[in-house]
Amino acid sequence: MNKVQDAVIDMYEQLPVPYGLVRFGVAPDHPEVKNCQDTFEEVALSPRFHYIGNVRVGYDIELSKLEPHYDAILFSYGASEDRKLGIPGEDLAGVFSAREFVGWYNGLPQFQGLQPQLRAGEQAVVIGQGNVAMDVARILLTPVDSLMSTDITEQAIQTLSDSKVRSVKVVGRRGPIQAAFTVKEARELMHIPSVAFGPIDRSLYPPDVKKLPRVQKRISDVLLKGTPSTPQDSARSWALDFLKAPKSINATSNHVSSVTFTMQRFAPGFDPFDHRARVEPIEEATTIEASLAFRSVGYKSTALPGLSDLGVPFDNKLGIIPNDVHGRVITPSTGPGGLTAGHVHGLYCAGWVKRGPTGVIASTMNDAFASADIIAKDWESDVPFLNDVQGENKSTKLGWDAVKEQVMSRGVRPLSWKDWKVIDHAERERGKEKGKNREKFPSVEEMLKVLDA
Ligand SMILES: Cc1cc2nc3c(=O)[nH]c(=O)nc-3n(C[C@H](O)[C@H](O)[C@H](O)COP(=O)(O)OP(=O)(O)OC[C@H]3O[C@@H](n4cnc5c(N)ncnc54)[C@H](O)[C@@H]3O)c2cc1C
Repeated sequence: MNKVQDAVIDMYEQLPVPYGLVRFGVAPDHPEVKNCQDTFEEVALSPRFHYIGNVRVGYDIELSKLEPHYDAILFSYGASEDRKLGIPGEDLAGVFSAREFVGWYNGLPQFQGLQPQLRAGEQAVVIGQGNVAMDVARILLTPVDSLMSTDITEQAIQTLSDSKVRSVKVVGRRGPIQAAFTVKEARELMHIPSVAFGPIDRSLYPPDVKKLPRVQKRISDVLLKGTPSTPQDSARSWALDFLKAPKSINATSNHVSSVTFTMQRFAPGFDPFDHRARVEPIEEATTIEASLAFRSVGYKSTALPGLSDLGVPFDNKLGIIPNDVHGRVITPSTGPGGLTAGHVHGLYCAGWVKRGPTGVIASTMNDAFASADIIAKDWESDVPFLNDVQGENKSTKLGWDAVKEQVMSRGVRPLSWKDWKVIDHAERERGKEKGKNREKFPSVEEMLKVLDA
């Protein structure tokens, strides 16, 4: 909107409420991370921006029905699936994906019926060592009192206060130098009151850690220092376990009781202290007892129904919409020189569906700015857009106004930014009663009910 005079943006969101993973992914005890919502709010207040909440593109309205009414469509629908381990026992009771668990404690309507059995036993295993895995461990171990004032759901507070979980093992396939979590997450876990850290095997670090690259050096300082207390003299504890690849999740009476891992070693030719080091399995296996198991090995984007009708070949392997790095959607097309990538005119992408499910909000925002810049640049040049009519030099597309009736005739109730602000206000009021900054509505029905009150 800044760069293209008179540009009008319709933003479709499948839920009544905005902010995606900032609301439903970012941990409730990281409120400062959610400040980016203020920037969003500034944009949303522009008369040239229309928020169309509670409309699921590809389901409530087909892409082929939207396409004729826009000059450009930007796909930014994130990564709504998770990667599976592909091992026996993955679907046992007591095994959860981090995505489900995070969505559950953050109030994502889809997962409010999850019922994680935190009373089933004392030990939990988290498979994967990224920041989401660390979030899961931290939420399991943090005393509930310090979560009370956050926007974690009331239901999660109740379940966590009843939790019997005393120890959490966060297990990774490679070593500490290759692990994906950042120093902030490690430090936070070290600072939870009455939670001890099980020391890590010193041999996984070089004798002189000062020589490590800065990022790994900072993490090593935190991990090697550990906590003043030990797991033996603490009520709760956590540990990082390395060089273990999950082999099977085992059950007693159909509920998870342990996880078996195939031990790994650094592959020949790789320096174990290099962050790119690869591992290979050895014959040895080890089994860790667990009454709860979380898999946290990444999110995954999927194709939106109807994408292929627009000429977009979704890349299922990478889980992204193929793009030219700047954000232009591309499709392999046969040019005179053989297979070349061609821009599907008028189609762009941003966020996790563009780059894959990695990156923090800051990098995702920068990446989104880059996609917006490229649309503006194309608009100023001779690049064709959707439904270009020869000789036409300005848009006459109606956007949302052209499809609104059709969407509503299907029983869908579209929401405006003003509607969201009513829900937002009601959530804050609900929170106030409990000394929290917000109590989220746990279902779409309850969100919509507020608008009729
Ligand atoms: C558990 C977790 C914790 C995180 N914590 C942090 C953190 O502490 N700090 C940090 O900087 N980053 C954090 N991140 C990363 C950050 O959340 C992402 O970088 C960012 O949210 C990705 O933005 P996105 O727009 O690509 O996807 P999303 O934020 O997922 O937004 C996609 C939006 O599209 C909507 N949508 C999907 N399908 C449709 C459809 N068919 N029709 C209409 N709308 C649709 C979704 O409802 C969603 O609102 C975390 C991520 C996760 C998973």
